[in-house]
Amino acid sequence: MKKRLLFGLLAVVVLLSAASVAVIILKFRPKMDDTLTTFNFDAAALQTNTAPSNDTSSMTYDFQIGNVIANEDTPTTEPPTTQPLPTGRQFCMIVSPFADTWSGQASDDTFTPMCTTLVQGTVDYITGQSRVFDAEENEWRDFYLLASGRKVRTDAVQLLSADVNYGDNHVKVVSSETKEGDLQIVLRCDWNVPYTFEFSGQDYYTKNNKHYHINAFTADKIQFTFYHTTAADGAVNITDSNIVSNAYWTVDDANKTASLTMPLRKVGGYYGYTMQRNADGTLTLTVKKKPAGISGARVMLDPGHGGKDSGALGYGGAVYESQVNFALAVAAKQALERRGATVLFTRTDDVYYTLEERKNMARQANPDVFISIHCNAAENKTRFGTSAYYFRPMSQPLAQCVYQQVLAVYQNALYASDSYRKGKVGEGANFHPFSVTRLEECPSILIETGYVTNDEECALLLSADNRARIGEAIAAGIADYLSRG
Ligand SMILES: [Zn+2]
Repeated sequence: MKKRLLFGLLAVVVLLSAASVAVIILKFRPKMDDTLTTFNFDAAALQTNTAPSNDTSSMTYDFQIGNVIANEDTPTTEPPTTQPLPTGRQFCMIVSPFADTWSGQASDDTFTPMCTTLVQGTVDYITGQSRVFDAEENEWRDFYLLASGRKVRTDAVQLLSADVNYGDNHVKVVSSETKEGDLQIVLRCDWNVPYTFEFSGQDYYTKNNKHYHINAFTADKIQFTFYHTTAADGAVNITDSNIVSNAYWTVDDANKTASLTMPLRKVGGYYGYTMQRNADGTLTLTVKKKPAGISGARVMLDPGHGGKDSGALGYGGAVYESQVNFALAVAAKQALERRGATVLFTRTDDVYYTLEERKNMARQANPDVFISIHCNAAENKTRFGTSAYYFRPMSQPLAQCVYQQVLAVYQNALYASDSYRKGKVGEGANFHPFSVTRLEECPSILIETGYVTNDEECALLLSADNRARIGEAIAAGIADYLSRG
């Protein structure tokens, strides 16, 4: 304990000196206007660059300014110069196991639920480049605009030989069957064309400048669209699927896309998909089943932060969020196992993993639900409360169920005799693009159990009895979600 306090004091000293360095740097940062004049932003050119076209002569490589530059986190460095791409059609291949994509029209790197992750081996051709300042990482990010209308990080792809030139694709269903409830569709394409996944029937609303909040998950159809594709055939056998009631192809000749549309048996009755490239060149698309209930469910818990990343600090550095998160996850594990669930962890020790590594662990383990457990932090040390976050619409019902149960613990036990806090402790189940909530393979949420930066709320989280209550609530919330009609 004394050692922890010493480390805490050390951390405060380090933080203070870092803060003074930051102040000095801030003073010598270039003014925003100086930075802007070094760019040439042409929105109109960008629009035309994102549509697939045979004419490569009009390709331009304008830089883009992300919205992020407009806020206080202005870049501290000049952007590096970009190598021009060769003339002619330049193909590239995804080399990351799973590559995030952004809308090609977006002026920044903000995620929307329409962004589909591309699996390794996916090929597309480049129609332009853009550069965005990432305020969180304090780095410039380079993107390629792809013919399929989205952006991808340049370090997620490899440029293919200049001689490579793929033609129009034809997609065929090789086989389809329902295996242990999951609908597995094996597809063969002439080449590894890009694809997108979309819902229909979902409404969104805007709150606090974030545009993809939902009141309820109301999707009634799911759709996979394959680009550079002019023909599609083969029926999908959906007879034994409890998720989809039909599957049909439509080909859009003008846009060279083929879509596989699958109406859902039940509105909002959808639990994720996986996409896998096989050694024989085929692609397996799996529409996941509805888990039967909490008993037998596979739950992945992600104790936030760890190792060199302590997360937020409580009591002036004496309490590490990473350790509170882990203790809360252990409490949730015990409560889940009592209910018959199988529990998987992203980390079982005080070690550091990147957010991408945590997501890839989930993709490998293929759980039914993924819950990232965190404590909140605010500059205002009096701020208190609990909240949950979803990104994909399919995750909203899970966020809502877990949030309601954790909120009840605060209202009925922790703040039972404090009518002021009881009334204000609920910060809601909200949309936010946290990295770990962006999984498409299963509903994934992040919960902020309480504020470690608030001494009183931190003290509540340090009590094993209270952590047991919160762990129990997390398990009950997951059980509620899995037992929905
Ligand atoms: Zn955290």
